[in-house]
Amino acid sequence: MKYYSINSPQRMVGLKEAVLKGLAEDKGLYMPKLIPQLPTSFFQNIDKLSLPEIAFETLKPFFCPDIDETHFASLVADALNFEIPVKHISANIHTLELFHGPTCAFKDVGARFMARILGEFVKGMDKEINILVATSGDTGSAVANGFYKVPGINVFVLYPKGLVSDVQEKQFTTLGQNITAIEVNGTFDDCQRMVKEAFMDAELNSKMVLTSANSINLARLLPQSVYYHYGYAQLKAQDKDDVVMCVPSGNFGNITAALVAARMGLPVKRFIAATNANDVVPQYLVNGKYQPRKSVATIANAMDVGDPSNFVRIENLFEHQYEKVKANIEACSFTDEEIRATMKRVFEKTGYILDPHGATGYEALERMLQPSENGLFMETAHPAKFPEVVEPVIGQKVPVPDRLAAFFKGTKQAKEINAALTDLKAVLI
Ligand SMILES: *Cc1c(COP(=O)(O)O)cnc(C)c1O
Repeated sequence: MKYYSINSPQRMVGLKEAVLKGLAEDKGLYMPKLIPQLPTSFFQNIDKLSLPEIAFETLKPFFCPDIDETHFASLVADALNFEIPVKHISANIHTLELFHGPTCAFKDVGARFMARILGEFVKGMDKEINILVATSGDTGSAVANGFYKVPGINVFVLYPKGLVSDVQEKQFTTLGQNITAIEVNGTFDDCQRMVKEAFMDAELNSKMVLTSANSINLARLLPQSVYYHYGYAQLKAQDKDDVVMCVPSGNFGNITAALVAARMGLPVKRFIAATNANDVVPQYLVNGKYQPRKSVATIANAMDVGDPSNFVRIENLFEHQYEKVKANIEACSFTDEEIRATMKRVFEKTGYILDPHGATGYEALERMLQPSENGLFMETAHPAKFPEVVEPVIGQKVPVPDRLAAFFKGTKQAKEINAALTDLKAVLI
């Protein structure tokens, strides 16, 4: 498959360049040259296929033969070695639990996948690849765990001292090996600025291969389309059709992957994006004006985004026509009070503990689903990752999964630096 930058559609690059660069030189996001349509028979029989089989068939057109097919099959099975179950919650509302990976967040799949793809490319190189990532919490843990022990790749996670939660910090500071945690005396914005400066720094780039693993990278984004195929397959196995899917959204990468799945032929009736108070896209769908603004802090903080980076990909998918975007996505946004009320009501009514992000998805379905439809929202993180928000709302402790508890046993190892490029360079070189 060839890929092009949205800013210069005529210039095609191969998978390797698109993945290693992440962002094109002209600052455009990459898109696949074509999104292949899978045969109707595939979707008719999809309920009989396993998760790795579905992943292999739906991702192969994007990654093979750049990556050898047989090898790709084992890579897929290795990246997706945990369950992604559909659970029924109430009436016609179901959830797809995306939090059964190592860090209990949906970003695990994209990160594990990208790590293995990069691991393939590094085999042919005489240098190691160094991933720099700035995190306000969740991305750092998913990337660090995804790339953990992948030969030929080093990861440096920059995070603001004292500004990430305990669980999150433990998830990327206790690994060691090829993962280095860098605790910055500054804010998340400082971390992000330092990473950008490092990518521009001539000396650093002459001494080492630097790349990013942020969510705009296609090797992270495309694998997420598997969720939608697999969620559909599980509902189909229960003879449930007229499926409406709802995605809690921040940078709109996950829902872009859903739209890619739909373009491949996945017969989902409608897609809904749910946001917190950062409602730039829902507003756009109301008035046709895309007006990015500074994000506001909410209790669903992984979705606190004021200028979603994948919005341009959605525009691109629908040929920049507002009417087409509007015909393919609906959206709604929720305040913190509404999110808390949803978590409380669903827990009291059904016993299911939502996390604050998933709660926006549940609520959107409850408001927008027709009685004849079957709704499936993405539960993007385990509620135990947000005990300080969830526990006061439901009035009890959230059971902590073993794999999350295990992180607490590890010892924090981090290099503390000031928020300056020279300090970062001293750690890297
Ligand atoms: C990143 C994240 C989201 C938002 O996903 P996007 O692809 O950025 O829209 C939602 N929920 C959780 C828990 C996340 O970590």
